[in-house]
Amino acid sequence: MTSYDVEFRSVSKHFGDFVAVDRVDLQVEKGEFLTLLGPSGCGKSTTLRLIAGFLHPTEGDVLIAGEVMGTRPAYRRESSMVFQDYALFPHMSVLENVGFGLRERRESREDIRRKVDAMLEVVGLTEFGDRRPSQLSGGQQQRVALARSLVLEPTVLLLDEPLGALDLKMRRHMQVELKNLQHRVGVTFIYVTHDQEEALVMSDRIAVMNQGRIEQIGPSHELYENPRTRFVADFIGETNLMAGTVEALEGETVRVAARELAVVGLRPPEVRVGDAVHVSIRPEKIRGGEESRDCETTAQGEIVDVVYKGSEIRYELRLPDGTLLTYDEQTKHHSRRFAVGDTLDVGWSAEDARIIRDEDG
Ligand code: ATP
Repeated sequence: MTSYDVEFRSVSKHFGDFVAVDRVDLQVEKGEFLTLLGPSGCGKSTTLRLIAGFLHPTEGDVLIAGEVMGTRPAYRRESSMVFQDYALFPHMSVLENVGFGLRERRESREDIRRKVDAMLEVVGLTEFGDRRPSQLSGGQQQRVALARSLVLEPTVLLLDEPLGALDLKMRRHMQVELKNLQHRVGVTFIYVTHDQEEALVMSDRIAVMNQGRIEQIGPSHELYENPRTRFVADFIGETNLMAGTVEALEGETVRVAARELAVVGLRPPEVRVGDAVHVSIRPEKIRGGEESRDCETTAQGEIVDVVYKGSEIRYELRLPDGTLLTYDEQTKHHSRRFAVGDTLDVGWSAEDARIIRDEDG
């Protein structure tokens, strides 16, 4: 017996010669909020459709609640899908829209009414039962779409960019609402987005996809703090990536020569002297001025650009060897400002420098 709500066992999906999903293994726990994140065309929607049953694997097995799905059609699966365009029935009221699936299942009128009322309360739309979709805001329509899926009590709710059509403010609001809703109902959510901030805010775990494969899967903080590949480091948040070669292993740390810079960073597994690596250092982990003195890695650069961003100031620095570094300084503690042309000391601690072997991606 497996305890996973959804499992992929080496699943591939080919469209002719094109490999959209490439030998993906995945286990999704009961009640988990998992996000599939990646650039356009990386295979997120295809993965979701393989779970839904709109597509079937070319190779491998998709399991829902421990059962191999094979070619079982969508309507016979314990999953339900919410689409970006909501796909509500325009001629039906909110009550009718939410009750649609239950009517199809030929449940009794009383049961339908009871379940629909309870679900409208969950999504905060009790007052709107008699309205048509066109009489609702985008966010309200999205909540109707959610209610319509959740009322069927699926094992897994599949959400394909469900907030894509909303403006930024409504989107932020709905992100929090969705997360709260998921906690209340305890249903497993598998969510597709290309928006990394959205993924970080909502997910228990994120699967970062690239060219049909999952590059890394884990909780938000783990992907941000410990990216295992260059792609993940670059895709989640912003980072400075520098190519280099491992020069020495020093206990828990390694020393990397990156052009003229000697970078000290945490030692990754299985690294050897001479390995080609990339150093990833987040702009907000860099320290400037006095604070850089005690850092394991230090450098001096010329400021070539300054951008005031409100809560922080972003400096672009050019080191003598030509390396460009992005450094974010919090404005909270400092009133000092540097200008283009100034020279600035910067540094970072070994624990903030991630060393990624080129061999690992
Ligand atoms: P987006 O964020 O743009 O929706 P995605 O990560 O969801 O991207 P998919 O829709 O899964 O990407 O598509 C993955 C790749 O498979 C794309 O290159 C796409 O063109 C291709 N693809 C998807 N469906 C088909 C199909 N029915 N026939 C041929 N190629 C397809």
